[in-house]
Amino acid sequence: MFDVIRIPAFKDNYIWLLRKGASVVVIDPGDADPVLEMLERDRLALASILVTHHHKDHQGGVAKLVERFPTAEVFGPAQESITGKNHGLQGGEHVFLQSLELDLQVIAVPGHTLGHLAYYGAGCLFCGDTLFAGGCGRIFEGTPAQMYDSLMRLASLPGGTKVYCAHEYTEANLRFALSVEPGNCCLRNRLDDVMILRSRGLATVPSSLALEMETNPFLRCDEAEIKRSASIGGAASTPLAVFTEIRRRKDSF
Ligand SMILES: [Zn+2]
Repeated sequence: MFDVIRIPAFKDNYIWLLRKGASVVVIDPGDADPVLEMLERDRLALASILVTHHHKDHQGGVAKLVERFPTAEVFGPAQESITGKNHGLQGGEHVFLQSLELDLQVIAVPGHTLGHLAYYGAGCLFCGDTLFAGGCGRIFEGTPAQMYDSLMRLASLPGGTKVYCAHEYTEANLRFALSVEPGNCCLRNRLDDVMILRSRGLATVPSSLALEMETNPFLRCDEAEIKRSASIGGAASTPLAVFTEIRRRKDSF
């Protein structure tokens, strides 16, 4: 098995580093410096880089890392411009990371960007800016229908899946969640827990898919209270219509 190490970057990004022995795989290195610092301090070798999507805060450090570790493989969306990418992926493939003896399933999750990928294996989901703890990413390039389908694809994974998203947005996400589902006790409890963690400067990620299913409004668009909050009645009250409305509201919450 491998260890998963959280490297905070910028204001609220998380870079995920998977380590087995002296070998390391890094996911969404927006900044190379904190990664290199850890690799040099612990004398680790970078074998592979996985990128979920093209935004700079997810791939900005790739060039510098590859300069230092020229043999590192760089995996990323085939249809997006990723510096140093030598393995383009569409979703539907598997990536075998030799250094970790880890097989990852590549899942296409368009919506935040059109080529956005999630990586799933050994009970861990690395989902970039698609599914967040308590929320989901903004829809920059895709349609609400694409984003909703992507989230449903992730929601079909086992409940015990650990959700490693790329930002610490949980507290703000849960405040919004409570505005559309104030009667959800589990959600209230989660916000209390998260507020305590954050007041101590601690991370709230990873979460579990089971907890997301109970508290994340974007995975709960067929719940009666969320439907009512979205003020969509009758024939229009499909989960997608509810999702579209609450995602729109979150943009200006
Ligand atoms: Zn992004």
